[in-house]
Amino acid sequence: MKKVVKFGGSSLASAEQFKKVGRIISKDETRRYVIPSAPGKRTPDDTKVTDMLYSCYGQALLEDDSEDCETSFVEQFHNIEERYNSIIEGLGLSLDLSEEFKIIRTNFSRKVGRDYAASRGEYLNGIIMAAYLDYEFIDAADVIFFDENGNFDAEKTDQILSARLEHTERAVIPGFYGSRPDGRVQTFSRGGSDITGSIVAKAVHADMYENWTDVSGFLIADPRVVKNPKPIDVITYRELRELSYMGATVLHEDAIFPVRKEGIPINIRNTNSPEDKGTLIVEDTCRKPRFVITGVAGKKDFASITVEKAMMNSEVGFCKRVLEVFEQNDISIEHMPSGIDTMTIFVHQDEFEEKEQKVIAGIHRAVEPDFLELESDLALIAVVGRGMRATRGTSGRIFSALAHANVNVKMIDQGSSELNIIIGVRNHDFAAAINAIYDIFVKTII
Ligand code: ASP
Repeated sequence: MKKVVKFGGSSLASAEQFKKVGRIISKDETRRYVIPSAPGKRTPDDTKVTDMLYSCYGQALLEDDSEDCETSFVEQFHNIEERYNSIIEGLGLSLDLSEEFKIIRTNFSRKVGRDYAASRGEYLNGIIMAAYLDYEFIDAADVIFFDENGNFDAEKTDQILSARLEHTERAVIPGFYGSRPDGRVQTFSRGGSDITGSIVAKAVHADMYENWTDVSGFLIADPRVVKNPKPIDVITYRELRELSYMGATVLHEDAIFPVRKEGIPINIRNTNSPEDKGTLIVEDTCRKPRFVITGVAGKKDFASITVEKAMMNSEVGFCKRVLEVFEQNDISIEHMPSGIDTMTIFVHQDEFEEKEQKVIAGIHRAVEPDFLELESDLALIAVVGRGMRATRGTSGRIFSALAHANVNVKMIDQGSSELNIIIGVRNHDFAAAINAIYDIFVKTII
């Protein structure tokens, strides 16, 4: 049995947090490969080390060779050193990072790159973690690779990483970065240590990828909208994708792909409450879901463009021509329900607003519609659950719940997989709609 365990920034923000992590790892000897993030916030108004590094590097760029500003760069760098030294001290380690700091500082002055700068947060935390656990330290730049265009090179990484770890019993591999063919360091997008964890889990054929953070997994609804929502015990990858409106803050979306096809479950766990089982993310499961819906999540601030034309459905290429207008204007489409003679396109309002007149003109030119209508301040809500397939009357229950809550439904669309129902409402009905749906499926058990 092998587990890969990734710890997020808040789990490693201080020596106290490191100690919790140490206890978690020593409790289960199958936790053999550890992926640390950089130290995160210790308090809500604290700054993450990654952000400190970005800012410090920005300062290094600004300062060029001018002496006046030099203090600011040095000062900022010193604050970063302090963060690490206080962890080392708090853990009682006899580790000295001053040589590492010196090299990094010189590289900052030589302006070796923003990605390099950001990656040092994980790199240094990895060295501390390895010393604390007495695990081998493996620099991610030696085992995680990007190609010359900056895209992740899955094949090369898998080959070299699996070979490297095959005979390595226990190791710490910092998250978030790797290297390009020319040796330059490159990072994933923000929150990317989740992706490193997933890549390592695939390379070692782990039985489980545990992702330790500061919440006990996913909740059925957003706690800022619904009071005390219940946790989700098990969710499938597909359900999670459908609920991507809510998942982003807990797990990086791209962390799913490496493990998904390998049948490696991801378990979201809480470092501050390790006895909680958290949420298990799996390819599929026979386990009956606790509720008909697995989750309900939504987002506000969409605009919709409805295009109507008699006999539209028999005109070959109609939809394509409409969609091309959006492509030409570089607007991504969120959702697209259609009727016999109408199609509606949902887009992010902020992305659309400044281009709306160009889009209208483009659609007129492309398909000569009978009627075109724009609406704004709309919200989309995804009701998702593998349990919906086997349950009759799900949409009926949603509608009656919304009617009781006085919410006017602008649009409804059920995916053909019967895994999700998307509902469009006005922005100001958003919270009432989500609460009504949560209540009818989770609070009212029939
Ligand atoms: N430290 C990086 C960030 O703040 C990566 C991560 O934590 O996953 O985005």
